[in-house]
Amino acid sequence: MADTDIRTLRINGERLWSRLMDMARIGATERGGCNRQALTDLDKIGRDLFVRWCREAGCTVSVDQMGNIFARRAGLDDELPPVLSGSHLDTQPTGGRFDGVYGVLAGLEVIQTLADAGIRTRAPLEVAVWTNEEGARFSPAMIGSGVWAGAFDLAYGHGRTDKQGASIAAELARIGYLGERPARASPLAAAFEVHIEQGPILESEGLQLGVVTGVQGIRWYDLTLGGQPVHAGPTPMSVRRDPFMGLAAILPRLYRLAEEHGPWARVTFGDIRVDPGSRNTVPERLVLAVDLRHPEQAVLDRMDAAFRAIVAEEAGRCRLEAEVREEWHSPAVAFDADCVAAVQGAVESLGYSHLRMCSGAGHDSVYLARVAPTSMIFVPCEGGISHNETENAAPADLEAGANVLLHAMLRMAHS
Ligand SMILES: [Zn+2]
Repeated sequence: MADTDIRTLRINGERLWSRLMDMARIGATERGGCNRQALTDLDKIGRDLFVRWCREAGCTVSVDQMGNIFARRAGLDDELPPVLSGSHLDTQPTGGRFDGVYGVLAGLEVIQTLADAGIRTRAPLEVAVWTNEEGARFSPAMIGSGVWAGAFDLAYGHGRTDKQGASIAAELARIGYLGERPARASPLAAAFEVHIEQGPILESEGLQLGVVTGVQGIRWYDLTLGGQPVHAGPTPMSVRRDPFMGLAAILPRLYRLAEEHGPWARVTFGDIRVDPGSRNTVPERLVLAVDLRHPEQAVLDRMDAAFRAIVAEEAGRCRLEAEVREEWHSPAVAFDADCVAAVQGAVESLGYSHLRMCSGAGHDSVYLARVAPTSMIFVPCEGGISHNETENAAPADLEAGANVLLHAMLRMAHS
């Protein structure tokens, strides 16, 4: 097939939309969302439908020991490492119709489009469905891609249980998706994931596509400030050792820290605990949950150092004991430059308006990026709302994202 023909190739947006709606009926909720949690009977029905569509499109299908599904379309040189597109079919209990499912069905649409046009790529193409991305039924999230990428071992993955005590291994066997293929990374030429943004930026800027360059790094802390519990009446303000006085000095400085490292820096205080928690006693201690984020690890590390310095300074000034305990750290991910360039090139050649941006949410691609050249593509979603039954996206945007996926995959498959 000549180059010019490949350049004019486009996916079938109507078919993509109708398959999204077919999948959304499996676990449809009254308020227009979807409840198809990992490894339930409904998940099995959704998986079976996906596998049927893949076989009809000429793919061979294999399942690994974590229930990850790989649909493969052979390449002209089938020994080459494949170009993969993957995401997830499981949803939140009150989830939407597009989170994850869109990425899976857009990958299938790419293969279907090539099959219809009779085009073979040099490298094979694969579409992956990663098990339990949401983490709603089994914790942690992204366990299927996590085991595959070596972040967790297989026994750990198999042993995760839901609230009723059912394990992933038992549930995989029950629904017929405990595969034999090792759940271990094999070489990939590239991995892409197209996903709804799950935030408001693209929509508010009136842009069609996000070229995703990485995923935010996250640091979670418990900040403890300790003072002296005294009576609210008799004790003059000047002699108190009041944790809230320290907090009142610390918070504005931390909000300023986010501003100074903007626009991608995030500082969030999601929870606070006060001891002893009595309205007429200065508290002895307060514990604040602090969440710092930035897409560049070096900047996040600077924010971490500044946060600690601010706490030490203000606690000293207020004669308080202070402790900063790191609860969790997820390092920033910088996606592969060649994969990002393939997406950028596809977006530009197709003429879509776009923004280079980072992801604020975790995705299977975070784990894939550890073992394979990886990047992501975002499309806008209505109001930036996701993990919600009202989650919505425009058919034209979904079509645009799948066209970008098609041409990015073609570039990496040497076609
Ligand atoms: Zn998702």
